[in-house]
Amino acid sequence: MDIKNIVMHVDVNSAFLSWQAAYDKQIGICNDIRDIPSVIGGNEKKRHGIVLAKSIPAKKMGIKTGESLMEARQKCKNLLIIPPNYDLYIKASKALRELLKEYSPNIDVFSIDECFLNFTGMEKLCKTPEDTAYKIKERIKEQFGFTVNIGVSVNKLLAKQASEFLKPDNVHTLYPEEIKDKLWPLPVEELFMVGRRTKPKLNRIGIYTIGQLANSDYELLSSVLKSHGRLIYNYAWGRDDSIFTGQNQIPFKGVGNGSTIHFDVEDASTAYKILLSLVETAAKRLRDAAMQCRVVSVGIKNKDFGYLSHQRKMLTFTNSTYELFKNIRELFDEAWNGKPIRHMNVRFTDLEIVSKKQITFFQDEYSMKMEKLDSTIDMIREKYGVNSLIRAEYIGSGLKPVLGGYPVDEYPDMKSIL
Ligand SMILES: [Mg+2]
Repeated sequence: MDIKNIVMHVDVNSAFLSWQAAYDKQIGICNDIRDIPSVIGGNEKKRHGIVLAKSIPAKKMGIKTGESLMEARQKCKNLLIIPPNYDLYIKASKALRELLKEYSPNIDVFSIDECFLNFTGMEKLCKTPEDTAYKIKERIKEQFGFTVNIGVSVNKLLAKQASEFLKPDNVHTLYPEEIKDKLWPLPVEELFMVGRRTKPKLNRIGIYTIGQLANSDYELLSSVLKSHGRLIYNYAWGRDDSIFTGQNQIPFKGVGNGSTIHFDVEDASTAYKILLSLVETAAKRLRDAAMQCRVVSVGIKNKDFGYLSHQRKMLTFTNSTYELFKNIRELFDEAWNGKPIRHMNVRFTDLEIVSKKQITFFQDEYSMKMEKLDSTIDMIREKYGVNSLIRAEYIGSGLKPVLGGYPVDEYPDMKSIL
């Protein structure tokens, strides 16, 4: 007999908003932003600010995730717009994963607010998987103050579809025998991987529900949509053979930080200081995520909007502020043409998860010391604020020693494929 797999998908309800609300409560703010029309979004004054998360009252007013803050404001005059706080999200996401690990050591992170739990074999230790899912959900609510939906099934795809059913604060199952009743009546765009571009193509060949997709002509679908057609056909039948890979970090591709400068930078030493302040934030973000990078790049915008950028692949992976800055400074020297600078950015890509072994093996004594220094500085700044400890060269320079928050575009719509 086949051994049935049990998979759970845990999805934080309106994650950014819930995490902010939970944090507000912790610091003694009584008004819950979840109860009023509110959104998390970037800078309203900048044109590209978009809605990243919305409260249920905001949703009721027709506000959608991904639309511009300007559009959202038109729909609701007294909308509360809260800037994103990625530090908080990373902390909340980590805390959630730690709790989930108590229920299964086998967890794949899907995005900052979504995890898959491989519960296969664990069901022997509980009444039913649903019963445990319910307990997990209640514990998260009680311990952290935010709610989740949990989907339970036999593979990742079905578990994810199940967690999409009625929100918030719910547990749903979607076992293969339930597909016909629970999945097939839904509009086809509610199937994972059927996006805005696929939907009209399916509609054109008469497919409007997931059931119609499942019962459509496989050859036709395959000729219209190629391999993507075959994938979503199988998804409509609940077939998914993706495995657990031990992906235990938020899958983001790169970390970047940039700043527009309100005066002309005409000398390298000022430019270095600004670059260092950008590296400080971006490097800390790598360390917070237990990631290191191998590719560094620097971008420079001149007063006349000319743009130069340079990148390099380093010999080893690192997340040390010292190492990263050293490379950034060399890149800057190679790239800069001496024209007055108005904007600079740094970016770290080609990321990998830090593994303890590598660290001690390849590093020289100096960079090991620097790494210790990094973790000490991180600790002090976390405790007493970013400006509690600053590098001497910034004193009297009029420049900020640590620059920048977390740019939104670093989390490409919070998704990756299964
Ligand atoms: Mg979510």
